[in-house]
Amino acid sequence: MNLNCYGYGPPDERRWIIVDCGVIFGRETATPGVDLMMPDIRFLEEVREDLLGIVLTHGHEDHIGAVAHLWPRLRCPLYATPFTARLLHDKLEEAGLEERAKVKVVPLGGRIKLGPFELDFISITHSIPEPNALAIRTALGTIVHSGDWKIDPDPLLGEVTDETALRRLGEEGVLALVCDSTNALVPGESGSEGEVKRSLIRLIGSLKGRVAVTAFASNVARLESIAEAARIAARELVLVGRAMRHMVNCARDTGYLKKFPRVVAEDEAADIPADHVLYLCTGSQGEPRAALARIAAGEHPSVSLGEGDTVIFSSRIIPGNDLAIFELQNQLAAKGIAVLTERDHFVHVSGHPARDELAAMYSWVKPRIAIPVHGELRHMSEHARLARELQVPEAVVVLNGQMLRLAPGPTEIVDETPSGRLHLDGRILVHEDDGFARTRRSLGFAGFIGVTLVFNAKRRLAAEPVLHMEGIPAAVLEPVREAVARAAGSKRGLDDDLIEEVRIAARRAANQVWGKKPMVRVQTVEL
Ligand SMILES: [Zn+2]
Ligand SMILES: [Zn+2]
Repeated sequence: MNLNCYGYGPPDERRWIIVDCGVIFGRETATPGVDLMMPDIRFLEEVREDLLGIVLTHGHEDHIGAVAHLWPRLRCPLYATPFTARLLHDKLEEAGLEERAKVKVVPLGGRIKLGPFELDFISITHSIPEPNALAIRTALGTIVHSGDWKIDPDPLLGEVTDETALRRLGEEGVLALVCDSTNALVPGESGSEGEVKRSLIRLIGSLKGRVAVTAFASNVARLESIAEAARIAARELVLVGRAMRHMVNCARDTGYLKKFPRVVAEDEAADIPADHVLYLCTGSQGEPRAALARIAAGEHPSVSLGEGDTVIFSSRIIPGNDLAIFELQNQLAAKGIAVLTERDHFVHVSGHPARDELAAMYSWVKPRIAIPVHGELRHMSEHARLARELQVPEAVVVLNGQMLRLAPGPTEIVDETPSGRLHLDGRILVHEDDGFARTRRSLGFAGFIGVTLVFNAKRRLAAEPVLHMEGIPAAVLEPVREAVARAAGSKRGLDDDLIEEVRIAARRAANQVWGKKPMVRVQTVEL
């Protein structure tokens, strides 16, 4: 979930730009019912009048996924290179915003001027078409915002990293480098898409039976490699899953995948002999509604796999998805399907820089200040340590919401702005502190007991308490009923203290017999 803000000018006339505006996916266990999470933008709503635009570095969900949800609160111009602009346009269209939220298309290597900021787009390499670093120039110095990047000498699609432009910036003088930390703990280099392609061609060429490959749909170079491997192995290509077809269309419409082979429609795939088909599927993260999960469950209308077939995960495990992915892989294994992953075969490389690549970037850009972003705290801290080792004079880890002054004067945290997350809960955006997900999590863990107490006109108990339970074992009922009856009928009439005592008695009784404290609500009825 990325959103970075750059401000220029004294506080009362400060102008702002936003770089990237992404989402992360909810986790069923931690945030039940929440599909997406995105940054709390209260601070930006307050400075909306001085907001000059949102600039998108590349099209991954963690960089553009929140735009269509948050744009109505910000209503500022959007800037992106053609492929990213196309993905963004489709999202805005889905949200019914395409007429109001116009995306201004910036050519590769282009320059835009936004108030006191001048931005150069610099081509780099990553795992999606058209990743960009930004050189953000101001009268007080230049900031290089790396975006997500790696140094791929053979990216297969699009430009190689524009080392010349980055070195030139280093010579001109760079105030700060705001840089990707994802793989700051990984030694060496991330490896190249070209190498993965050669490996996939060898591997797929050696397989018998049906072959399915799952990969991130946005890694268009990878899709092309898989298509090429299929062609060489004399296998027809079938795209399975809506996201896969959408991404191929977006890439074609913006000038990529010129040599992509003819694909067979999903519903015609069943007629192709087993040794002559390759399914390219969505669902590498174990997403329950994606193509691969449906195939594994035997629920896909036109694709079925079994004994002697192979599934290749040309992807990595995104932390948090481990359990879902292993469950999916077990399901496939149970059907006699061979499961090949990056652990046993060379079928994936990361799109983020390992330590040698970070070192190269620092040697090119030579910033005065290193600002690690994009990673967990342990990655950012290690990145800062590495930057200091590489003789960068200052390295600062900035936490969410902190405002760092880069110039003029010493580098300093000067303010804390409200931060945190918004949850997309069904169709409604709620602040994480509103607690709906938290409430549902505790309901999921220990269920619910409703107690109804009926009082007469003298506010004396007029009937036995009525209990209503959800998600609670039967053995808990009697002890809770007795405890509630005792607490309610003990001494006196209805008051607030009594209600609270009954609630606590019910929880305590449940805990004694069950070891869990369910949510308890006490309702009163007066006759
Ligand atoms: Zn990212
Ligand atoms: Zn990315």
